[in-house]
Amino acid sequence: MYAATRAFARRRFFTTTTVDGFTGAVGNTPLIYLKHLSEKTGARIFGKAEFQNPGGSVKDRAALGVVRDAEEKGLLKPGGTVVEGTAGNTGIGLAHVCRARGYKCVIFMPNTQSQEKIDLLRMLGAEVHAVPAVAYENPANYNHQARDYAQGQSNTIWTNQFDNTANAHAHYLSTGPEIWEQTQGSVDGFICATGTGGTLAGVGKYLKEKSAGKAQIWLADPPGSVLTSYINSGGKLIERAGSSITEGIGQGRITDNLGTFVKDLDGAFTVPDEKSIEMVYELLETEGLYIGASSALNVVAATELGLKLGKGSTIVTILCDGAYRYQSRLFSKKWLQSKGLEGAIPEHLQKYAVL
Ligand code: PMP
Repeated sequence: MYAATRAFARRRFFTTTTVDGFTGAVGNTPLIYLKHLSEKTGARIFGKAEFQNPGGSVKDRAALGVVRDAEEKGLLKPGGTVVEGTAGNTGIGLAHVCRARGYKCVIFMPNTQSQEKIDLLRMLGAEVHAVPAVAYENPANYNHQARDYAQGQSNTIWTNQFDNTANAHAHYLSTGPEIWEQTQGSVDGFICATGTGGTLAGVGKYLKEKSAGKAQIWLADPPGSVLTSYINSGGKLIERAGSSITEGIGQGRITDNLGTFVKDLDGAFTVPDEKSIEMVYELLETEGLYIGASSALNVVAATELGLKLGKGSTIVTILCDGAYRYQSRLFSKKWLQSKGLEGAIPEHLQKYAVL
């Protein structure tokens, strides 16, 4: 065996740990140093590898957090039912947690979602209700249907990820402390996009407290979200307009998870889809990372924040999930063309658009 290989094997052996079941494997994800972007900007750019959670995304933490909270409050007892309205990662996280803890899982989702997601949720044992995709204002919206389904049923909870602050608290208790420890308290800037706001508010609040306000916390938005304009206008909520190909992020209101933390943010900006798509491909080419579009948007934003905070600054963002759940779109020339995004991929990266 080569000496280097022997050293590697030894290292692997000594760092292997055991954990207790699915829920024990949630969290404690690595913080990945993004070498190429760090060299480009002069900042130290890190991505928290949330795609390494056992259910494949950052939402495993929130799913476990809301279930644990309901158990601790006595709202959910053995044999109970967990109901949520979700089109993606939260549902997948909840389905895993429910199987691991013996609960029934009921998911309401818009019927416009991919068959792969519906199939995966069913394979994980969830009861899936794919309902017509109607606006939030309509009482038949999938979120309201989830709430109504749970109402009045014994030992049944609606986890309500947007406004249940046990979601942000899960990040305050785990993701935030992990980042603080992994950077040895040297984090200067944290930035990410929001869906529910749980990750941003939970991590942001923890880092602000630990750094005595020194760490800057920024929000990154996809097109069609109202949060950037809300923050930069000092609190004016505009009508939602436009859309984005990034799934799971963008928001039309101030959720309870964002809550008053929105006032503590140091800034916000929007990242166009062209830049996010290009970053999906660039991270594959330069770092060998296969990540989804919301993670790519976060990395674009981290790079810009690194330029703002200057050389030597330590910037952290979230790599929310892998590209596997979106590959039929992100790596399809036809799909990119249908979204007017074929020009986003530079010539030398087009070799990855193989579908
Ligand atoms: N990226 C992806 C792919 C997601 O599914 C989500 C959650 N909807 C987020 C980012 C945002 O996380 P949060 O809900 O904590 O704001």
